[in-house]
Amino acid sequence: MVRTRLIKPFDPWRSPLCTCPFKWSLNPYTGCGHGCLYCYASSYVPKFYSPRAKRGVLEVVHRDSLAIPMGSVIELSPSSDPFQPIDDIYGYSRKIIEVLASRGHRILITTKGTSILAKHIDVIERYRDRIAVALTITTLNSSNAKLLEPEAPPPIERISVAKELGRRGIYVTIRIDPIIPGINDDIDELRELIKRLADVGVKQITVSTYKAKYDSLKRLSTVFPDMEKLWRKLYIGEGEKIHGYFYLPQQIRYRYMVKLKSIVEEYELGFTTCREGFQYLHTENYICDGTTPFYRNK
Ligand code: SF4
Repeated sequence: MVRTRLIKPFDPWRSPLCTCPFKWSLNPYTGCGHGCLYCYASSYVPKFYSPRAKRGVLEVVHRDSLAIPMGSVIELSPSSDPFQPIDDIYGYSRKIIEVLASRGHRILITTKGTSILAKHIDVIERYRDRIAVALTITTLNSSNAKLLEPEAPPPIERISVAKELGRRGIYVTIRIDPIIPGINDDIDELRELIKRLADVGVKQITVSTYKAKYDSLKRLSTVFPDMEKLWRKLYIGEGEKIHGYFYLPQQIRYRYMVKLKSIVEEYELGFTTCREGFQYLHTENYICDGTTPFYRNK
């Protein structure tokens, strides 16, 4: 058995609805400074919105990277953003990418951070055949984005990052995740977002609806008080509980997914979903977490 301390098997809440292939996960930081109201990790990481660096992270990653099989796929990071503001102080994410990629591992970078382009594009480009990037963009509406993700870069800047990464040959998936009823679920707005993403060369869109936990629902309801009643009805009254998360009723989720699949495929992008249970809706040969290029030409 492989013994590691920071690089751990990815375990998405042990969700039966997860459709990712096996991969490893690595969080150089505990907590996250982007402050997203809907964040899932805040329910299981103490003092989540006060991010801190993990002690001895680089030494441990050096050791762990030798213990796992060559060519492993590692997500950086599932429970914190590797390019959140604290990374500007410690700079661990860049060093970790260099260590992992130079040892032949493949990295899925999941982020909203724009420093990936502004400060680290040289290293991303150097290892582009071993890197895929999943950028989250939940809305084109900058006012809503500021409320939902107060410390994250504006969506328009993230679209510019997607464009530039794609131009440099790096595979980019956009996660429209989460879709929250009444906030960012307007189909015309989502169509405009998808069109903009197709225009800048994005290859794949992964979509997921918001899964409620009491802490995130409370944060959302504080900022959007007019929505609380509807959310409680949809999630807690009529929804279903799956592995500790309140999901929207299945037929509502299905309607979102079918509609978005048709728009995404109209623009000739790959469509995938995350933890929804609708894998049969995925565009053929696309992997839901954005690791698609790692499994092509095998
Ligand atoms: S960027 Fe991700 S990890 Fe950070 S607060 Fe937002 S949802 Fe949570």
